[in-house]
Amino acid sequence: MSKSVIVIGGGIAGMEASAYLSAMGFNVTLFEKDEKLGGHLLNWERLFPTKRLGSEVLTFLKKGMDDKIKVHTNSNITKINSENGKYFVTNDNNEIFEADALLITTGYDLFDARRKEEYGYGIYDNVITSAELETMFLSGKPIVNKQGKVPKRIGFVHCVGSRDRKVGNVYCSKVCCVTAVKQATEIREHLPECETYCFYMDLRMYGAKFEELYNEAQEKYGVTFIRGRLSEANETIDGSLLVKVEDTLVGRPLKMTVDLLVLMVGFEPSKGTKDIAKILNLSTNSNGFIEVADEHTLTNVTNLKGVFVAGTTTSPRTITNTINDARAAAAEIACYLNLYTIQSRNN
Ligand code: SF4
Repeated sequence: MSKSVIVIGGGIAGMEASAYLSAMGFNVTLFEKDEKLGGHLLNWERLFPTKRLGSEVLTFLKKGMDDKIKVHTNSNITKINSENGKYFVTNDNNEIFEADALLITTGYDLFDARRKEEYGYGIYDNVITSAELETMFLSGKPIVNKQGKVPKRIGFVHCVGSRDRKVGNVYCSKVCCVTAVKQATEIREHLPECETYCFYMDLRMYGAKFEELYNEAQEKYGVTFIRGRLSEANETIDGSLLVKVEDTLVGRPLKMTVDLLVLMVGFEPSKGTKDIAKILNLSTNSNGFIEVADEHTLTNVTNLKGVFVAGTTTSPRTITNTINDARAAAAEIACYLNLYTIQSRNN
């Protein structure tokens, strides 16, 4: 009898790990709380740094999911028990599923920008998040502000809800610098007359082809980068925003108006991640993500035997890193279930 793995979370990591585990011959059951598989990728039009369509990556992930994988969408996990090395998972239909190993891929939620009240999200019409701008791109409709006007100037605010002790998130979300650069260049493609400004603390362009995108943003698209943290945004009578920034490169305060202000919201552990951590009594780190057994060598292993993690459940990461991490988790689970000797290093 082949062994069984239950994967909880049907985003990028859950789909890719399920595909690999099934291809290795394990019985895989995948649970997803939403109606569709794909997670945040469903809401993203184009991906950094090359601007390929997110839907292409989703198609790739779907192709990997063979018919043997049992997928349960609209399904939340309410209880997990373990006995004699087996896990018994109950969903909200009171169905119980048995597995030899669990993989947690419940991922992240985007920071709720209302918590940065000084930026006016949820108060002013024309303050939106990076995810909402992406939805505008995805809709194919013209880019206009809430008053229906084509924006002449758009500001992008980096590090919203990340690297910020006041909101309790000291970590960098890794992907929002390059997302801002990508979106600023896309705005210039849609609206060549629109000025774009990125307000940043540091630019973290660490991945392959990220620096090239940044150079292109300046040289080809004319995106302006202003080093400084936005202190506040206030709405003017015509619905535009007056923003105040301390330009730390020239050492003076700056005021300017923009027609749309885009907040680059960071990652936080998802509600699903927090719920599963509670149900299973999994250790979490100081940022609330699931703690791994060793930061260098056991990045898919948790404090519970037979329970593994992958993707943004443990920290912010790119799609590329998430896919690689999912494959690594599948290999780790295969070692565990087949008792390959490599596992002896982990004891
Ligand atoms: S990636 Fe950039 S915008 Fe995002 S938290 Fe890190 S420094 Fe800030």
